[in-house]
Amino acid sequence: MYKVPHTDFKETYKQKMWQDFQIFLQQEFQSKGTLYSIYYEARKKPWFHSLDLPREFIVRFTRIRSNHYNAAASLARTGIKLDPQCECSYPYQDFNHLLWNCPKFSDHRKTLLHKLRETNWTPPYCITTFLKGPNIGVLRIINAFCEAYNIKL
Ligand SMILES: [Zn+2]
Repeated sequence: MYKVPHTDFKETYKQKMWQDFQIFLQQEFQSKGTLYSIYYEARKKPWFHSLDLPREFIVRFTRIRSNHYNAAASLARTGIKLDPQCECSYPYQDFNHLLWNCPKFSDHRKTLLHKLRETNWTPPYCITTFLKGPNIGVLRIINAFCEAYNIKL
């Protein structure tokens, strides 16, 4: 009689754990990580797995995808900062404000908008649109904008 090796059961357990984890995540997304759930895809490798990207790029956009980054609105949401207001007096300093509206970065924004138009994206812009997928070409343009202004998120 042929005995089934115990390692043959390993895949079954791995599949069950993966399925249970997906169910757990969907339940958690009801109250936590609601923005991240927009980007979440049930895959076993991270979004940047097959891409040749600098570490700073990956860190920056992973933080933005998770909605935990160094901007007043994010810091105020987690209790690190009291006020979500931007230094320009805009009431809510999130990444969209910094990219598209904040007067602190208006000089280089013309270049950013020009490069985005070259990719055939038309305004109004929202970072959520570009993070889905994600759109690496557009994120490279936005990353260059962040580096030009030394925006550390
Ligand atoms: Zn501002």
